[in-house]
Amino acid sequence: MPTLVMKFGGTSVANLDRIRRAAKRVGVEVAKGYDVIVIVSAMSGKTNELVGWVNETSSLYDAREYDAVVSSGENVTAGLMALTLQEMGVAARSWQGWQVPLQTNSAHSQARIEGIPPENINAKFAEGMQVAVVAGFQGVSPEGRITTLGRGGSDTTAVAFAAAFDAERCDIYTDVDGVYTTDPRICQKARKLDRIAFEEMLELASLGAKVLQTRSVELAMRYKVKLRVLSSFEEQSDEAGTLVCDEEEIMESNVVAGVAYSRDEVQMTLRSVADRPGIAAIIFGTLSDAGVNVDMIVQDISEDGRTNMTFSLPIDQVSRAETAMESIKGSEINYQGIASDKDVAKVSVVGIGMRSQSGVAAKMFKVLSDEGINIKVITTSEIKISVLVDRKYMELAVQALHDAFELDKAA
Ligand code: ADP
Ligand code: ASP
Ligand code: MG
Repeated sequence: MPTLVMKFGGTSVANLDRIRRAAKRVGVEVAKGYDVIVIVSAMSGKTNELVGWVNETSSLYDAREYDAVVSSGENVTAGLMALTLQEMGVAARSWQGWQVPLQTNSAHSQARIEGIPPENINAKFAEGMQVAVVAGFQGVSPEGRITTLGRGGSDTTAVAFAAAFDAERCDIYTDVDGVYTTDPRICQKARKLDRIAFEEMLELASLGAKVLQTRSVELAMRYKVKLRVLSSFEEQSDEAGTLVCDEEEIMESNVVAGVAYSRDEVQMTLRSVADRPGIAAIIFGTLSDAGVNVDMIVQDISEDGRTNMTFSLPIDQVSRAETAMESIKGSEINYQGIASDKDVAKVSVVGIGMRSQSGVAAKMFKVLSDEGINIKVITTSEIKISVLVDRKYMELAVQALHDAFELDKAA
């Protein structure tokens, strides 16, 4: 029998009614003859609550216990979904990560998937099980402890199962009906895309579009998983939603495919750093050892052998970064002070078309300047341009760029 993976995010399983509605969708696919693997998230808000409890209990939490606590939300929805399906007469069974087993490395709270041996679940399909309901976001380390895959990780669970079971498709059911040109919650003119290229989706996700976890897109690209994003609140046809696919499968596309934003950024500056060979290696090596994910980096021109080093990082890593920088203050780097601006956001435009068309950056900067928005830091790659701006201008910047690049109109 062909296999189908269906993933339901937090809002799609937010209460018993929604779980019933999702289960009906599963029933439709079972009736078509698929072996279905359902991946569920925790009920919406649950994981945030669990994370809050951990932080309140312990300021220097132990990541193994963090995982033990925050993985539990998915256990509840997996069991409830299996029960709901059974009530409908579908032979369903729930699976926690360790039971599958979904094997990961030991990087607690950010674990990477290492393998999903399909034998246990396949044996149950062979015995007549119609649906395996798997708790998303969680796995088991080589030491036998529960791990989690980073926030939004159920998307990655879903794609990894689709790859491991050679599924015909991986359907990600969520609270919007596909991938849009930008977040439809902050830009009314956002337009749903029928298709988006893996590389563009990868950039958008890593630059803040949380509709798919970055790692899930990476896996889909590598294992050629047919990945679709669609709404769990509407009746669906086989053509619904957005297909994430190879760039060759898209006939026409805009130069800029989409605009992404990340609200929770911090700009940190080390003032008056001794400018010698090796300082960047020490600063960024120390930050990396402390588990800080530095994104943008700018070094000023040096004057009298001293320079300023500015970089951006996620807001929840600020205290870690400051502690790490304090630890090297007296070293040969010998900087004079740290300034952290916590009111910044990152706005990015993404599109494969930028490879062959120049002028996108110039246009982006002009649009922002016309709106009176000051750019603090810039980074570019072949298919994206990102700027750091004051957070209060973030939505305005997204909307102005969406208008200027005419993303509301199809190519
Ligand atoms: P789930 O709980 O189903 O995993 P998420 O909240 O993680 O859902 O992701 C869906 C949300 O992603 C949407 O509600 C939307 O606000 C946000 N989003 C951000 N950028 C985009 C985009 N380009 N297209 C669609 N949704 C986006
Ligand atoms: N429940 C987890 C989270 O909120 C995983 C997920 O929903 O994808 O991050
Ligand atoms: Mg999500």
